[in-house]
Amino acid sequence: MQAKISPKMRDISVLLSLLFLLLTLLSVSGCRVRDDKSPLRMVSGSAFKIALFADLHYGENAWTDWGPAQDLNSDAAISTLLHSEKPDFVVYLGDVITANNIAIQNATFHWDKAISRTRKRGIPWASVFGNHDDMYFEWPSEWFSATGIPQVNCPLSTISYSGSEPCTFRGTTRVELMKTEIANNNLSYSINGPKELWPGVSNYVLELLSSDGTKPALLMYFLDSGGGTYPEIISYAQAQWFKKQSQLINPNSKIPEVIFWHIPSTAYSQVAPKPNSVIAKPCVGSINKESVASQEAEWGIMDILAARPSVKAVFVGHNHGLDWCCPYRGLWLCFARHTGYGGYGSWPRGARIIEVTENPFTLKSWIRMENGSTHSDVTLSS
Ligand SMILES: [Zn+2]
Repeated sequence: MQAKISPKMRDISVLLSLLFLLLTLLSVSGCRVRDDKSPLRMVSGSAFKIALFADLHYGENAWTDWGPAQDLNSDAAISTLLHSEKPDFVVYLGDVITANNIAIQNATFHWDKAISRTRKRGIPWASVFGNHDDMYFEWPSEWFSATGIPQVNCPLSTISYSGSEPCTFRGTTRVELMKTEIANNNLSYSINGPKELWPGVSNYVLELLSSDGTKPALLMYFLDSGGGTYPEIISYAQAQWFKKQSQLINPNSKIPEVIFWHIPSTAYSQVAPKPNSVIAKPCVGSINKESVASQEAEWGIMDILAARPSVKAVFVGHNHGLDWCCPYRGLWLCFARHTGYGGYGSWPRGARIIEVTENPFTLKSWIRMENGSTHSDVTLSS
């Protein structure tokens, strides 16, 4: 007689596989899965869409009229992009704020502004740090001319949780920024990474579950590429951490993996089209206006990534005048698109979008502009 599995038995087996998955993930040392919220999960028959917001630079020149006006422009750009694409998830890809322009300890206020539009729409997100997020305040030299130091508004009466804190001109640490984001936002999937990787903080992995909830459809790794208060680098320790995590969670490289950090690694310089030249195949993109401003050194992460067939693409920001993807040793190296109105450059603003499907797995990407157009379609899964 052929055994027939009852719907109840099927439910039990799904529950058991979920439990097994959870136990596996929890048993991986240093892999911290947030258990205070439901896991990210695909919806049957639908693609899962991720929007990358890079280099928003909130809080730039906060003491002028220009700075706050740029933040309003960034608010509008984010709203428009979220409205056009309706992503399921957002990645804040570093340089969320321009901390070197933020004179008092209210960096978290500007950070909160940057995430507020996404939060308002109920979209979950995660963030990584760029080189500007924890920079020390840089005194503008013109403040020492005859005109003197402008009213820095210290403390800012309009900021509820800066209270009466004195001006410290010290910046806000990565740990503090992350702690505040996580504590104030149920929709934040960011994690303060393992202490052994400090001063790098945004080091963690998130999984996107398949629609039936039985297995991960995608693993998303976030790495802190440094800058600001320490060198622009992905350390040997971070590379080894990634290697250990990926081998434990995904030993057979069966689950596709994507990687997010802020500052391009030196490998980006190797594959970059010549600055100001036309972006030719196999690279795909629309602006190529500057040289790659890469990390200071390479301590092994690229070899580890290239050795894993499951790693499909790396996504970075930092260079506002570049938005291409180029192949590199079996994976893709992609720039996002400058999204914020702070930061250098006047190229039109936009966001790189990533779209994931299951059964079969595909990973596609394009750039959505603030004016509604899209371009630079590329398939990253082939
Ligand atoms: Zn940057």
